[in-house]
Amino acid sequence: HSILSDLPILPLAESFALTEAYNLDTFPEKVNLGQGVYRDEECQPWILPSVRSAEEFLHRQHLNHEYLPIQGAAQFSKEARNLLFSPQLAQNENIASVQTVAGTGANHLAALFCARYLRPKNVFISDPTWDNHHLIWETAGPDIKRKLYPYYDPLTRSLDFDGMIAELESSAEENDVVILHACAHNPTGIDPTHRQWEKIAEIVVKKRLFVVFDSAYQGFASGDLDADAWAIRYFYSTLFGDASLPTSATPAGMFVCQSFSKNFGLYGERIGALHLVTPPSVSPQGAYTHLVRLIRAEISCPSLFGERCVHTILTDLELRSKWEEDVKTMASRIQGVRMSLKLELENIGAQGNWDHIGRQIGMFSYTGLSKTQVQRLKEVHHVYMLENGRMSLSGLNGKNVAYVARAIKEVVD
Ligand code: PMP
Repeated sequence: HSILSDLPILPLAESFALTEAYNLDTFPEKVNLGQGVYRDEECQPWILPSVRSAEEFLHRQHLNHEYLPIQGAAQFSKEARNLLFSPQLAQNENIASVQTVAGTGANHLAALFCARYLRPKNVFISDPTWDNHHLIWETAGPDIKRKLYPYYDPLTRSLDFDGMIAELESSAEENDVVILHACAHNPTGIDPTHRQWEKIAEIVVKKRLFVVFDSAYQGFASGDLDADAWAIRYFYSTLFGDASLPTSATPAGMFVCQSFSKNFGLYGERIGALHLVTPPSVSPQGAYTHLVRLIRAEISCPSLFGERCVHTILTDLELRSKWEEDVKTMASRIQGVRMSLKLELENIGAQGNWDHIGRQIGMFSYTGLSKTQVQRLKEVHHVYMLENGRMSLSGLNGKNVAYVARAIKEVVD
């Protein structure tokens, strides 16, 4: 008998398991709409031309492979901060940034920090959400109660804004954490309007909540990097950006978790950043050293390649404008296949209303298909997507969209 033999075998995380199953499938018309990764019109991984140029530039520099500082490269973190907050706001001294192991590492570090130093009673997580939010907070903060706030109304297939506000109003306590998706909400593809964000900010102030923004899709909601950072900049300016605000009138702080996996196509390079915002008159320096200490224990220091790529692109005028074009290319191709799928479903008369597919934004469509329908799509039609009905649209192209629409028709009719 051993403690180890008592541990049950756990299932693999769903999106990774789907990819494995898809790879083993020998059916020629199979379609992968599972993992949230961008694919080009041929459904192949896309190396962004700006990233390719940066790689070639870096290769010619014959750089060494020394350790980075524990907090990562300062010049990288500065550019990451500028991109998110705008260069003007990013100069303020109440934002401190560290380099992380992609968006997951940023979320995990934020959770670890909160569990250890903020010690909230509850963390509020959107229902539904990226499933890793649950696992991250469960493992990093087992003493923090995970509570769901309503986000999606299946009847109207739109944001359940009243439900969200009512839950925060009635259940959130001072110092609790609320996780907000900065844009292109995963999995629903539905974001609050500016007016709704303003209301959410009001609740955050009133209840003195600690916000953790998760920004994994900057550029994917609208194709415009600034427009997609609106909510973060609004929260920063109204809650933390005014030096005349007394500390008693501001929340304790805010984290922003930033991923470069999607908008640079650097998935496997694991590059991201975590930004800590403190009230205007409070220095982030003490908290920053605690973040650095947690990083030291976890990874000693982060990795080089992704940081070099992102920094090179963001600081070179020509590469940067090439990259902004690349982001638009990805956002608009996804928007294109989104509309073709909707039209195709309507044209062939698939039962039901498909307007929501066209209304949703970002990388995904929350189709409204049931678990059994999703299962049948996989087993009968070799079309792979998440059990909750989330479809990663970039797996569609001009050649397979009709096939996918027919498969959906078959399972809903
Ligand atoms: N947050 C959300 C909402 C996501 O969808 C993702 C990617 N699936 C991430 C964070 C983190 O991704 P990564 O660790 O690859 O940067």
